[in-house]
Amino acid sequence: MNDCIFCKINKGEIPSRKFYEDDKMFIIADIEPKAKLHYLMIPKKHYKLLSEMTEEDAADLAACLKKLSELAPSLGLKGGYRLVINQGDDAGQTVFHLHVHVMGGQVLDFPDLK
Ligand code: AMP
Ligand code: ZN
Repeated sequence: MNDCIFCKINKGEIPSRKFYEDDKMFIIADIEPKAKLHYLMIPKKHYKLLSEMTEEDAADLAACLKKLSELAPSLGLKGGYRLVINQGDDAGQTVFHLHVHVMGGQVLDFPDLK
């Protein structure tokens, strides 16, 4: 846990462009944006995967999603946005602290899932 990049960002040990913060989560700019606007919504509590969530974690994440929907216009996401949670190696997860990618600010391509 001590080596976790997102825990270090939460503690201010690694700099970030922070757009929002409350007691449950913070929202930063992704350092390698894959869309015109690419944020990461990061629960403050460290857990790696959805499968590790407690009931309380699940309730907190639901509250974070509700808050995100309220914040979206002020984040430049009036036209819509896409949420992605990569889980494990097949999905290309690289940071093992659960986080939600929030992408928008443009018309997004629809991925070919074949
Ligand atoms: P994932 O592949 O779903 O685990 O996503 C991890 C994301 O974290 C990637 O999109 C990275 O670009 C992003 N990332 C890694 N380090 C940082 C950092 N220091 N600040 C902001 N975003 C980061
Ligand atoms: Zn962490």
